[in-house]
Amino acid sequence: MNRKITAICAALILLSALVMQFAMRSIRSTFCIAIADDCDNKCIYLTFDDGPSDRVTPVILDILREEDVKATFFIVGKRAETRRYLVKRQYDEGHTVAVHSYSHEYDNIYKNTKTLIDDIVRCNKLIYDVTGSFSSVYRFPGGSFMASDKLKAAVTDNGFYFVDWNASFRDAEIVDPKPEQLFEAAKETAAGHNRIVMLAHDSTDKSATAEALRDVIHYFKDKGYEFRKF
Ligand SMILES: [Zn+2]
Repeated sequence: MNRKITAICAALILLSALVMQFAMRSIRSTFCIAIADDCDNKCIYLTFDDGPSDRVTPVILDILREEDVKATFFIVGKRAETRRYLVKRQYDEGHTVAVHSYSHEYDNIYKNTKTLIDDIVRCNKLIYDVTGSFSSVYRFPGGSFMASDKLKAAVTDNGFYFVDWNASFRDAEIVDPKPEQLFEAAKETAAGHNRIVMLAHDSTDKSATAEALRDVIHYFKDKGYEFRKF
């Protein structure tokens, strides 16, 4: 009898874990779909986090220019301080410069609503100084699942909308990746989505990301996707 109860409990725990996981996934993908609601057919948003970097960002910008594709850069303010010319270049070449973080230090950012908003405002001030306009687009460091409902509400109450992703180069997960691995990851994670928000990184150790980018762009162009920015 006891063994039966244990088995039922284990099944219930497993079931609730699966339901939670499914709910989380549908919340995240619903959000992405809401962002791309004006997309009638197939759309892809390329997004680059954690830059700018002297090594990788200019290469990515060159490829985007050659391919005539616009993207969104979620920048880290402290890295942009000495690389304002790259933020200026992103803006001048028609990309969206958006807020990721000033410090990118999770312990500080996620302490409370004040530390979170201070971090966002400081990054946005830099964007304003360089481009002459504030951004209203935000990406939580690590993704919005890192943040409580209270923190998410603070972000939207301060006039931002936040963007997660539903596909990824997996360039923050694969150790010392080859460009082909990142290309495969981008294709695999995007499979089955008509509206894609693709996560990639342009921080200094992500040269494989830049090397994979052209193939990724060609792949989605060939599949008939329209490239969008936030
Ligand atoms: Zn980040």
